This record gives sequence, C-alpha cells and structure tokens, in this order.
Amino acid sequence: MKVFKFGGASVDSVSRILNLPAILKNYESEKLLIVISAMGKTTNALEKVAEAFYAGNTGLALERFGEIRQSHLQIAQSLGTPDISGFQQRMGDFFTEVEWLLHDKPVRDFNYYYDQIVCIGELLSTSILSHYLNMAGITNQWVDVRDIFSTDDQFRSANIDWEKTAARLKEEIVPLFNGIHIVLTQGFIGSTDANESTTLGREGSDYSAAIFANLLDADSLTIWKDVEGVMNADPKAFPDARFIRELGYDEVIEMAFYGAQVIHPKTIKPLQNKNIPLHVKCFLDPSLPGTLIHSKHINDLPPIIVLKQNQVLIHLRTRDYSFVGEESTARLYNMLSALHIQANLLQSGAVTLQVCADHIPGKIEKLAQEASLLFDVQLEKGLTLLTIRHYRKELLDKLTGERKIVLQQWTPETVQTLMY
Ligand code: ASP
Ligand code: MG
Repeated sequence: MKVFKFGGASVDSVSRILNLPAILKNYESEKLLIVISAMGKTTNALEKVAEAFYAGNTGLALERFGEIRQSHLQIAQSLGTPDISGFQQRMGDFFTEVEWLLHDKPVRDFNYYYDQIVCIGELLSTSILSHYLNMAGITNQWVDVRDIFSTDDQFRSANIDWEKTAARLKEEIVPLFNGIHIVLTQGFIGSTDANESTTLGREGSDYSAAIFANLLDADSLTIWKDVEGVMNADPKAFPDARFIRELGYDEVIEMAFYGAQVIHPKTIKPLQNKNIPLHVKCFLDPSLPGTLIHSKHINDLPPIIVLKQNQVLIHLRTRDYSFVGEESTARLYNMLSALHIQANLLQSGAVTLQVCADHIPGKIEKLAQEASLLFDVQLEKGLTLLTIRHYRKELLDKLTGERKIVLQQWTPETVQTLMY
C-alpha cells in the first residue's frame, strides 16, 4: 500500500486535474490511499467567508461563498462530470450546509465557525476529483475523512486521537481495499466526538497523509508538488535555488522547524516512527526522480536557506536586577505554550531574555501583556529571520549584506540572524 498526497496546486485548474489519470495509471497494480487538499487558494477564500460571517456581515459572507460555489461548479462542468451516483446531490448538500450556517448569528468562538466553513474546501475538491477519476476509468472510493479522523475540539489546530483513528481505519478503510484499489479522501480535516468538523492547522494535508501512512503501515508516502522536489531555498526568493535528491528525516524536521515551507512540520514524526520513506515528486513531470527522504543521515548537503519575514523580538528584563532563573523561564515557556506561540529564537542573559516569534497580531500583544507581570517588556517589530544550515561564511555575508543585525546565534550546523 502506498499513500499519495496531492496539494492544492496540483488540482487548481482543469488542465492540471486532467493530468492525474496518467499519473495514477502508472500505479495500477498498487493499493493507493490518496489524500487531496482544497483546490488552489480555496482555503484562503473560505477564511474570508468565515471572517465576514463572524463580523456579522451575512451578505458579504454569502457573496464570497457564492463565488467559491461557482468556481467549483464550473470546474466540475468543464471536467464533464454528469450526475451519476448522486454527485450533484452531495455537492449540493455541502453548499447548503455552509449556506445555512452563514444565515445564523455567531454565538460561539471564531475558531469553531472557521473549521465548520473551511473544511468544505477539501470536501468539494475530493468530491469532484473522485467523481472525475471514476469517469476517467480510475475506479476509486470517496471517503469523508471526518468519519475516520477523530480529534479533540481544539478548533483550527485539532489534535488527533490516534487510538480511535486507528480503530476506525481498521474497521472502515482497510476492508474497502478488498474490493477496490484506490481510496480517495481529504487532508487537513477531522471531527470531534460531537461530530463537529475540525482542521489540523494550515497546510495540514501533508500531516494527514503521514498519519494514514503510519496507521496503514504504508510502503511509502509520496507528496506530489509543482516543483522538482525539495530545494535548498525558496526558488521564488532565490532564483538559483538547488534541487536536493536525498535527505534524512533529521534534516527535514530541522528545515521545517526553521520555517522552510517544504513539508508541514508535523509530517516527519509519523513517518520516522515507522521508517516509512517519503518521496516528494513533481506532478508536472512524474518521470523526474524527485527527492527521497528517509532515515539515512546525508552528509555534504548544500547550504539550506530559510527566510522568515514579519518577525518580532520580545525583550524581557527583570525589574529588580534579579537573575533570570529557571522559574521565570519556565513561566515564560508556559505562556508561549498557552498562546501557541513558537519561539523561533531564544537568547538568555543574566537579567534579560529575548524571544523571537512570528508577529501574529493580537497574540504577541497578549503575550507582552502577560509577561509584563514578571518583566519589563519591549517589542521590536518588522524583523527578518535568516536561518542557514550547513552555512558558509561567504554566503552569510552575502545574504546579510548591509542589513542591521539585531541578534545572531551560531552552532556548528546552523546560523540564525535576526535583522532589519
Ligand atoms: N487546504 C489547506 C490549506 O491550504 C490544507 C493544505 O493544503 O494542506 O492550508
Ligand atoms: Mg496546500
């Protein structure tokens, strides 16, 4: 059994969707569990629907949702999907579900509504794709992953209940493969015991695919992307970025941690735990070898560059010149964890602590407010964090140039530079 994941970019237009049957025909003799994201930028568009709804602007929410509905119907029509096996009915039910909700007045917190609305992106894309592939002779069974992925109710970053999910998978997914080669389902979403939809965090489909791979003891996971494979830098920011043929789990988990947008950071653990290799392949040219990620530690890697914009440095200083001890550091970590803020860089001195984090409006101000019970707090905004693994001094000099450096941390492997 293999697990495939197709991201939003691989299904963002009719012409790209038309490529899928040819890719899948190469795996005719395999059992495949296929995880698919929402089409293109649908998740962003649905976020805007949720925002308008929560702001009490029903008209705008419905108008925005109407556009999403239209674009999906148009794609379905261009693919020539007639109404067999209740396809229109299923699509109609999803649309109606959201439209009903949008007519309500919000009484719960935003994150709850966000998940009920945003999950539709994956449900629509997979319904269309499953139907189209069946017509194209790639017989598959569509599954609503909310019946399989059991989560807690931490909306927008729900946690998987591994035991329940494993049990449902065994009961409901495994038997499907007795009659069929392909099961097609959604990434990114799940549901609570109370049947409320949840999402696992933006870009979470990679993680969903890794969970399937782990629980199904898959031979491998393949993530299909619009690039050749993993690159040593973002090609949009660094035109001479280089393709990397082979990487260890250890390197990829570091890259993801530092903010490289290769693979969702939570993807590696479920794979590493069962030693399942990960292939990152190009759906535009499946004959390319792609990147292989596995347990081998690879030496001689090129420098790996990650740039994170919109960083904030939080300066904390004890009020009475007492040392920053374990206790106040522990309390700071508790605050970070309660607010789900990741410290991208942390530096401690005798009476000061400095924490660099993504500047998520609202959250950072809240942290500053809470931390001011313990420290004098100052925020330095508008910074860029440059991380280079396997760095060379010349490259670091070139990339920092004339910029004003605020903080720098070195280890033999990695240098991080926070700068204006
Ligand atoms: N559609 C979701 C997102 O855009 C999940 C994913 O693509 O992985 O964040
Ligand atoms: Mg995506």
